[in-house]
Amino acid sequence: MKRRKFLQKASISTLGLVTTGNLVACVNPTSQKEEVLTTDTEASVKPLVIATWNTPLAVSTAAEVLEAGGSALDAVEAGCKIEEANEKGQSVGIGGLPDRDGNVTLDACIMNSEGDYGAVLCVKNIKHVISVARKVMENTPHVMLVGEGAEQFALSQGFQKENLLTEASKKAWEKWRQTAKYKPIINIENHDTIGMLAIDKKGNISGACTTSGLAYKMAGRVGDSPIIGGGLFVDNEVGGAAATGLGEEVLKTVGSFLIVELMRQGKSPQEACEEAIARIVNKPNSDFKNFQVGYIAVNKKGETGAYAIHEWFSYNRYKNNENKNIKSDFILNRKA
Ligand code: ASP
Repeated sequence: MKRRKFLQKASISTLGLVTTGNLVACVNPTSQKEEVLTTDTEASVKPLVIATWNTPLAVSTAAEVLEAGGSALDAVEAGCKIEEANEKGQSVGIGGLPDRDGNVTLDACIMNSEGDYGAVLCVKNIKHVISVARKVMENTPHVMLVGEGAEQFALSQGFQKENLLTEASKKAWEKWRQTAKYKPIINIENHDTIGMLAIDKKGNISGACTTSGLAYKMAGRVGDSPIIGGGLFVDNEVGGAAATGLGEEVLKTVGSFLIVELMRQGKSPQEACEEAIARIVNKPNSDFKNFQVGYIAVNKKGETGAYAIHEWFSYNRYKNNENKNIKSDFILNRKA
């Protein structure tokens, strides 16, 4: 019998703890539904937040939600919104660099600890696509909405239309148009596409990912960030993973799902991230020296890991009341 089913069927007359091996659940006597599902409770670190790149404000915002007793889902949404609203960040939300036709199109997804997922792809004119993705998850029978349909849905949910192309991004695009050479921007050095994972005080895990995708991409192009298992995956019994970098390469190896499955098989978050990067780099004819991919991961105990192809990838981590930027190791370091 599945553990979850076992817990739901357990006959409990008062609010209390049910223990099955190392699994502990707090059961509400009226609904008979578990409210908390954690493993290794004693060893686990919570609350905890990690996010791709140097994103201290996003991480501290998420941490505040968690410290106040909020859910991991609320935390990752609040954290991602910080980057979406930051006009200076040119690869997420307002201020994102446009596609080759000059349109800023955003992708985002969110996943909760119940294994539910929502995503929006190629959305124009709406800044907080992470919140639209959550509405898709919670208010529709679907998991993904794209383009015009996603925008119409957002407007129906009360989101406001706004111009996402800032003067700075417009200028950069106009400069690019003078040569209009299409070369994926590899984001080796710095970046702000944000993939975020959080564990709340109850031990539940959620994740979110939001981006404007590759600069000057073909119109309609979508990368890994809003795709379940690509840019993000969460399994509340195992952990979560998120990706940044050249989405095409992440998608071809279903990177975040791969990392979570490797953790399920017993690898640490660090080992799992390293294996996922190796899968990309070791492909025959891989052009990995010319693009970046970075992964972050967390397991149920709150152990974290990160790994990239190139130098300069980092992640922010809030753990034990400390929010710090941690430099990631990278495979070219070992191949050099
Ligand atoms: N992964 C994103 C994409 O391919 C971009 C990035 O993280 O740099 O759309």
